[in-house]
Amino acid sequence: MTKIAFIGLGNMGGPMAANLVKAGHAVTGFDLSEASRNAAAKTGVSIAGSISQAVRETECVITMLPAGSHVIYVWDELLGFVDPGTLVIDSSTIDVESARKVHGFADKAGCLSLDAPVSGGTAGAAAGTLTFMVGGSDGAFSRGKHLLDAMGKKIVHCGDAGAGQAAKICNNMILGVSMVAVCEAFVLAERLGLSHQALFDVASTSSGQCWSLTSYCPVPGPVPASPANNDYKPGFMASLMLKDLMLAQQAASASGATTPMGAQAAQLYSLFEKLGHGAEDFSGLIRMLRGEAVRAG
Ligand code: NAD
Repeated sequence: MTKIAFIGLGNMGGPMAANLVKAGHAVTGFDLSEASRNAAAKTGVSIAGSISQAVRETECVITMLPAGSHVIYVWDELLGFVDPGTLVIDSSTIDVESARKVHGFADKAGCLSLDAPVSGGTAGAAAGTLTFMVGGSDGAFSRGKHLLDAMGKKIVHCGDAGAGQAAKICNNMILGVSMVAVCEAFVLAERLGLSHQALFDVASTSSGQCWSLTSYCPVPGPVPASPANNDYKPGFMASLMLKDLMLAQQAASASGATTPMGAQAAQLYSLFEKLGHGAEDFSGLIRMLRGEAVRAG
């Protein structure tokens, strides 16, 4: 049993903390939102009145927050209250620069740290089947691995500080670009009189095969569980895809990498969001490419 503090009990953090409780750990949580605190309390998380109360005398602190600025703010505060040697893990999706900055804060405080963003969405968080992409020292990884195991089914140590965030944004750039390509292919097939099923049957077993097609098909029919069969209810919200594509663009520009397809995908998702579709599943972009996604609301 490990004494854990969990900061950020939202859509992802709430169920992740609940899985740590189920695995037998003592979890104290804090969130600014009363609704999130109440929901977490129902799953067995002890609720603290502040970050400082939550993290005192814990062996590990996990944060699951919206963006880099929140993580910098929260780590700066919590590192003033933890004992040296505490392991601090951030599982939010944030920019690589901020991730490396907070690893530096932890180092200065004599703490071990990991960046450990996830893929698998809210369904994976609830089921405990997330994939964790982890950056940090071998020592920090071996201390934290069993805790990540309680929340996920695949844990990959990607390298040193920031490597987890780097893996996350590279993966999601592939996802964003491949989804645009799959959507475009279905729109072209429709114009050419080719059925959805025929394109799927060919491309899913040919060189066009990819996850966006075979697991998350953006038209209803071929993959019954994909959000296209449920009026594009998320799933993975278009606004979160845009967030990840913007993080990839920020990293590309800071590192001098050339990513023209990632830039194009970011522009398309930005337009989709501006038209009011940010809360829909990201595969709904096909409706914009057909000219159907007029301004929402
Ligand atoms: P969310 O908005 O539901 O949860 C974030 C929580 O952080 C909120 O409850 C908020 O009140 C809390 N918070 C913000 N500032 C705080 C502070 N200073 N102190 C305490 N609590 C604070 O977001 P989410 O969907 O849970 O996503 C969390 C992270 O996970 C994001 O970085 C997101 O990009 C990433 N992510 C989300 C998904 C998904 O499908 N939702 C999938 C993969 C990764």
